[in-house]
Amino acid sequence: MRESGVCPKCGSTEVYAGDRMAPWVKVGSYWSNVIPISGWFNAELDNYVCGQCGYVESYIARRDRLERIRRKWPLVRQRSGWGGSTRTRSCPGCGTAIPEDWKACPYCGQPLT
Ligand SMILES: [Zn+2]
Ligand SMILES: [Zn+2]
Repeated sequence: MRESGVCPKCGSTEVYAGDRMAPWVKVGSYWSNVIPISGWFNAELDNYVCGQCGYVESYIARRDRLERIRRKWPLVRQRSGWGGSTRTRSCPGCGTAIPEDWKACPYCGQPLT
């Protein structure tokens, strides 16, 4: 979407770029357009918006912030538990996907054997 100018959701080419804003505008009111990285560090986002369906795609605006995330955050594929490589099964009580080694469902309390 950022490079192509095409919305991946609806195929529209009416994609607007929010990447040319001044730094103090880009952080948003009350720092709403940033994500926390670690400690005092935040990363501003560049947003691209589809004018047809409203889909928003966000990118880290600053290269140094991206480098900091690469040093500080775990890779999705190396995490354990939620979303990692751990296999899941669905809870017989509520159907939520739960890591296989969990003893009970955190949502409905159903014991898992
Ligand atoms: Zn769209
Ligand atoms: Zn459950």
